[in-house]
Amino acid sequence: MIFAANFKTNHTRASTGEYIEVLLLETSLLKDDAVYIFPPTSALQASKEPIKIGAQNAYMTQNGAYTGEIGLDQLDEFAIRTIIIGHSERREILAESQEFIAKKFQFFKEHNFEIIYCIGEPPEIRERGDGAVLEYLSTQFEGIDTNYEKIMIAYEPIWAIGTGKSATIDEISITHNALRELTKAPLLYGGSVNSNNIQQIAKIDNVDGVLVGSASLNAKDFLELISLSK
Ligand code: PEP
Repeated sequence: MIFAANFKTNHTRASTGEYIEVLLLETSLLKDDAVYIFPPTSALQASKEPIKIGAQNAYMTQNGAYTGEIGLDQLDEFAIRTIIIGHSERREILAESQEFIAKKFQFFKEHNFEIIYCIGEPPEIRERGDGAVLEYLSTQFEGIDTNYEKIMIAYEPIWAIGTGKSATIDEISITHNALRELTKAPLLYGGSVNSNNIQQIAKIDNVDGVLVGSASLNAKDFLELISLSK
């Protein structure tokens, strides 16, 4: 399975280093999985086998005048080749439009990055049922090459992120089965994945991995979550 830990605006360079050291004590547990850590920008560092470090965000530039952003030069320093694009927090809080996201996707695709591309519906769409959800999600694929060989798609219902209320097994299953019709890409589920629900979520057809926020912040908890998925 794919396990991706999104630290968001948590952890420092020092604590990210310590976190990785804790994970590396358990390489035998990690060897059959793909494990990604997305620390904050200030804690970016080179990947340490078998753990891959990715960027939560970057701007579509080699370098230049983009105050507050980083570009390829800063990612190249640590040989980072994985990025998250389209996370709902960037869509909502940072007001990234689908057009902007698609341009960013295109740029990092052209630079051969692995891209975790996030999609997910707000609560008022979920209330209208599966058809409305799938229609909404299709708008988040505008300008996105779902056949790109290095895309992973993370289905993350907005109402499930950081709320402790994961989507139900049926909701995940219906959505992932529909996504599978669209693409052969690995499909991740994200939204309040934790050690209480990982066993059930890991068993769902067409769930190839999970993107984990809160429950990934403690290295031992994240290791436990990985071991419970087996
Ligand atoms: C996320 O924001 O990508 C996420 C899945 O967060 P959480 O696990 O905290 O719901």
